[in-house]
Amino acid sequence: MVKKIQLLLGIFILILSCTSKQDTIPSTVLTGAKIFIGNGEVIEDGVIIIQEGIITAIGGNETSIPENAELIDVKGKYITPGIVDAHVHFSQTGFFDARPGTLDIRDSIDFVKVQEQQKNHPERYYEAYLRSGVTAVYDLGGFAWTLDLQRSAENNPNAPHVAAAGLLLTPPSINKTTYSRTPTDSQFISITSSEIGIEAVRLNDSLGATGIKIHEIYLDDTVFMNSMIAVKNEIAARNKKMIVDAVTLEQAKQALLFGAKILAHSVGDQPIDEEFISLAKELDIIYCPTLVVFGGYITAYRSLKTGFEINDPNNVIDERTRNLLKSSSRFLQYFPDNVEVFFTERTDQMIAGREKITSENLKRVYDEGITIALSSDAGNPGTLHGISVYDEMEAMQKAGIPTKDIIQMATKNGALAMERANDFGTLENGKMADLIILTDDPSDDISNMRSITHVMKSGFLRPVKEPFEKIPGKE
Ligand SMILES: [Zn+2]
Repeated sequence: MVKKIQLLLGIFILILSCTSKQDTIPSTVLTGAKIFIGNGEVIEDGVIIIQEGIITAIGGNETSIPENAELIDVKGKYITPGIVDAHVHFSQTGFFDARPGTLDIRDSIDFVKVQEQQKNHPERYYEAYLRSGVTAVYDLGGFAWTLDLQRSAENNPNAPHVAAAGLLLTPPSINKTTYSRTPTDSQFISITSSEIGIEAVRLNDSLGATGIKIHEIYLDDTVFMNSMIAVKNEIAARNKKMIVDAVTLEQAKQALLFGAKILAHSVGDQPIDEEFISLAKELDIIYCPTLVVFGGYITAYRSLKTGFEINDPNNVIDERTRNLLKSSSRFLQYFPDNVEVFFTERTDQMIAGREKITSENLKRVYDEGITIALSSDAGNPGTLHGISVYDEMEAMQKAGIPTKDIIQMATKNGALAMERANDFGTLENGKMADLIILTDDPSDDISNMRSITHVMKSGFLRPVKEPFEKIPGKE
């Protein structure tokens, strides 16, 4: 009897607490905008009701609005889900200081100190992402600490959601010094045997990696290629997915034969063929185009002579990065004779040729119905965290992808890559309230994504023009 009373009492308290919660926590309601759901559907003059960071209702103007709700009139504006960048690197800065293999400026900037900063101050990039409308990012490889960001960023209102692949499995013939390491830490595990390959997968898995990343496939590295069989089996046994950096058609096809689920780059050396298409369809892969990162490198090299121009009207890039790029010409001393090569007609032709192949391959992949996710590869020299998503979306549009599909690639498909599609990526009942507000219609021209005025992550709405320090109530 006592037990029964306790049970009834418990239920009563539960009902009471539920009721009082709904009474005391008012909903936020956005009204009047044209809403892009993220799955291709659009609602004109829409209503989104948000409570405690979750979307509780979404629909047309007939949607009933709860009493005591905080109404936000966004008539004439446009709403999409928060942008998801499916390929970034928190270990990298957007300049050569974190990538000595491409230009070694370690005499001027200590690489170990750079990595300490990367590890201890990801908030610089968190702000750049959120204020660019990017509410989730997938770190596709770096030092082990990048895996910790998955947990620490999740409930931080000042950070996007983070998924991370962790340490990169590489062919032993890759020269690690070209990417550099600290005395105590490496981003790479050299796959010199099947046993080491299996251990590498186990280690990343135990550290919580979302996917296992293979950094490049060297087809004529027989030790690596033989070890990859064991790696592939271990990944499958652990129910993980394989992510591969492949930039040539032959590498990409080999990656698919290994069972890769995400190709982290475009095929850039030649047109993709039937074999590639059928393998990609069979595996139901996600293709990450990373169209702008190549040009980013060229921009970074050229900046040694011309300076670096950042297109950042909302000033979202952190001070250190801005100052570093502003002073890029001081690093010309490390590259005095060779820089001219980046200003020749031949280089222009090479860039245009590569752009043509990657764009045509992207269009072909799109026409074949293969899933594509917006991916900037931010952190590489010349590709800055946050703002690079706009360049990437514009390059996708230039390749012939319709705007409505780019919106889906920049939202739902990125969430799919991150294995978070149940949480965000589309604006639906029960999902997190991650969205952006724009003044111009992104379906007219994808560059209208730049007209962002506000970003909401987990229900917390903020203007993108305001630096985080000026937001009242900031932690
Ligand atoms: Zn990358």
